[in-house]
Amino acid sequence: MKYISTRGEAPALNFEEVMLTGLASDGGLYIPETLPHFSKETLESWKSLNYAELAFEIMKPFVDGAIPNDELKAIIDDCYAQFRHPAVAPLVQLGHNEWVLELFQGPTLAFKDFALQMLGRLLDHVLEKRNQKVVIMGATSGDTGSAAIEGCRRCNNVEIFILHPHQRVSEVQRRQMTTVLNDNIHNIAVEGNFDDCQSMVKASFADQSFLPEGKQLVAVNSINWARIMAQIVYYFYAGIALGAPSREVGFSVPTGNFGDIFAGYLAKQMGLPINQLIVATNRNDILHRVIANNQYEKHPLEHTLSPSMDIMVSSNFERLLFDLFDRDGAKLSEFMQRCNNETVSLPDAAFTKARELFDSFAVDDELTCETIAQVWDESEYLLDPHSAIGVKAAREVRRSTDTPMVTLATAHPAKFADAALKSGQTEVPPLPHHMADLMDREERFSVVDNDLATVHSFMQKHIR
Ligand SMILES: *Cc1c(COP(=O)(O)O)cnc(C)c1O
Repeated sequence: MKYISTRGEAPALNFEEVMLTGLASDGGLYIPETLPHFSKETLESWKSLNYAELAFEIMKPFVDGAIPNDELKAIIDDCYAQFRHPAVAPLVQLGHNEWVLELFQGPTLAFKDFALQMLGRLLDHVLEKRNQKVVIMGATSGDTGSAAIEGCRRCNNVEIFILHPHQRVSEVQRRQMTTVLNDNIHNIAVEGNFDDCQSMVKASFADQSFLPEGKQLVAVNSINWARIMAQIVYYFYAGIALGAPSREVGFSVPTGNFGDIFAGYLAKQMGLPINQLIVATNRNDILHRVIANNQYEKHPLEHTLSPSMDIMVSSNFERLLFDLFDRDGAKLSEFMQRCNNETVSLPDAAFTKARELFDSFAVDDELTCETIAQVWDESEYLLDPHSAIGVKAAREVRRSTDTPMVTLATAHPAKFADAALKSGQTEVPPLPHHMADLMDREERFSVVDNDLATVHSFMQKHIR
């Protein structure tokens, strides 16, 4: 399988190469040139597969022999064995035809584990074969950093540096990163804010000359194709469990960077009968405004109770736009240039297609808390604020009550205790067993000045 850039100018890559790349050299994102399509008969035959078995069937055509099948299978088995629930992604029923898919049973209690546990293992496997070592660098305000660190802690060929704003992430989130003590893990607490961290990472990717000879940076954010690939699986898993292919199913997805819901869009193209995909956003609602009113306009970032969705512009939206623009890289490139400086609208044909594919709804903090309280009151099920946004959006804009509607529950409620307390809980939600001693574990991190040269010299000292 070949991977091509959304801007049409960069060379096509194979799976191995695409995993080791961040942005394409023309500024675009990589996507598969063609998608596999699974027939109704194939979906029928998958009904008895467990999560890891299904993951193998779905990822195999994308990996396309870059990793031999038996080795790929072993990687997938090991990866999803880290999840503490035997179903890996269990479905919980909230109401009639209303479901929640719990994607927070992995090591860091957020759905990012599905992709990053996999990415760490895939990277290490490929690097071992190539006899190559790489450097991962990322900035985090929370979930991505801990999931990336957990995913890479046993990788021999990856040195990982994660920047977080010193004293500006929650204690649970910090400890999930800093209590991982493997030698290849480096937590850098920057005396600045998240934007400072992110600008330093961007600048480092743009000019990698500070790295020792022969080393390169690899991205772990959702512009990395392998992350999207791993996320396609749970749509099929939930859909088949609820009756696909003979029955349709809808999904509501708490959305930030558009990676998770883009995987749902791909699942639909690949043959899963999805009747509705709902983009659920918080007050940072650029995607809702474009889907509802065809108004693509950047507003200043707002801080909300759902911080993992506090994003001004969603990078993976470009992957959808590529299809909406009939895969015309030149036209898309011109559009992306324009939307840097002005409010833009999609061409009519593209907007019509977007409206057929997606519905959307934006939920503010107050409504988020109301939803957490309401669902607790109905069934004593505690939602985290991100998942609550998904449930609320589904309740507002679902097209049919005859079809199962699944909200992706993207984080465990214990990760966001603030929101739980603001929504009427009288106690902090308990952490799961395997993390109960988190507050007593030894931490290791380095506080570093908010200065690029200082960060680079720290990295130079620690790259082995
Ligand atoms: C990352 C994240 C999201 C947003 O996912 P995207 O793929 O960026 O759209 C939603 N909820 C939680 C808890 C997250 O960590």
